[in-house]
Amino acid sequence: GMFQSTTEPLFAAYCEGDVFEISDALKSAKFTMVQCAPAVRVSIGEDFGMEAGSLTPGKMAAALRRLGFDRVYDTNFAADLTIMEEGNELLSRVKNNGTLPMFTSCCPAWVRFMELNYPDLLPHLSSCKSPQQMSGALFKTYGAEIDGKQREEIYSVAVMPCTCKKFESARPEMSMEGHRDVDAVLTTRELAYMIREAGIDFNSLPDEDFDRPLGTYSGAGNIFGVTGGVMEAALRTAYELVSGEPVPDTDLVFVRGEEGFRIASMTMGDQTFKVAVVAGLTKIGPLLEKVRAGNADVDFVEVMCCPSGCISGGGQPKVLLPTERDNVYKCRKASMYSHDKNSKVRKSHENPDVQKAYKDFLGEPLGHTSHKLLHTVFGKQDS
Ligand code: SF4
Repeated sequence: GMFQSTTEPLFAAYCEGDVFEISDALKSAKFTMVQCAPAVRVSIGEDFGMEAGSLTPGKMAAALRRLGFDRVYDTNFAADLTIMEEGNELLSRVKNNGTLPMFTSCCPAWVRFMELNYPDLLPHLSSCKSPQQMSGALFKTYGAEIDGKQREEIYSVAVMPCTCKKFESARPEMSMEGHRDVDAVLTTRELAYMIREAGIDFNSLPDEDFDRPLGTYSGAGNIFGVTGGVMEAALRTAYELVSGEPVPDTDLVFVRGEEGFRIASMTMGDQTFKVAVVAGLTKIGPLLEKVRAGNADVDFVEVMCCPSGCISGGGQPKVLLPTERDNVYKCRKASMYSHDKNSKVRKSHENPDVQKAYKDFLGEPLGHTSHKLLHTVFGKQDS
């Protein structure tokens, strides 16, 4: 490791609020459930002196269990679920002459940007909640049912690479009958701080598994943490839904890359989908103007506010030397793709616990229960 990132000295004071609230919940009679975003497992090791991009999902799960969480679930499960819902939403918009292009809605900073600056284009946003919020909604319903608990007994925590996820979790539409989907959000750095404060030696922890069913994930769910990842995961599944055949090569490298604006197209059966991948809000303006003018020649657009996607989010371990930043992002990104490559299941629709969730609880993608728990209407709070 040429590079080291550490928690800054004044950090303790800064992160007090959420850390204290969660520590209290862990000591209380609440049944605590936690989820971790894909990008956290490729960066948290850096806060414990490991090399940039070290892949540590097993140690992370073990640390969360030692902190006292009753269920160690994973945002990646809901990333797979997002693909089922969003993929079907896209296909239904295409089939029924719905509003196109459709934009992803998993980055809350992007959603807020649209609400404030392009309210007329809100119908272009997917109605899907982000994976964080989908997980939270499932914890207090399906998850509660599995553990024989009431919704009120569950305390739902998310660990995110992102400070904006705190804002998202507090949005009024992200709760059901007064119960928030996600009660509190920790950033990657705040989780590292809690682990250290608890005296847990992260580096010597064994690798443990996430709990089933809400912690099972495919490689496609994992690459949500890097720019182009949501698109790649969506195209893997859409291809098979549309053509009825397996995708010839699971690595859809044409949507990967460093540039903040990329376009590509993919033919499936007798349809060709044109897609765009955007990382960084400075790159989105021209496309939004075209959409406004009605001449954007694209069907589906992924937008992330951070330059490399969530691996470079504002809650991630600090890169102390600015000259190291690109290299660190590259290492985290490489780790995401190798985690995907080495996964037994690499397509969201093949995640066995996602299939089971539809069979036992959700019914069909875009069905009644999905609509109630996994989708929302953006822009409501401003009207
Ligand atoms: Fe948060 Fe950045 Fe990811 Fe958007 S891209 S969800 S702002 S970390």
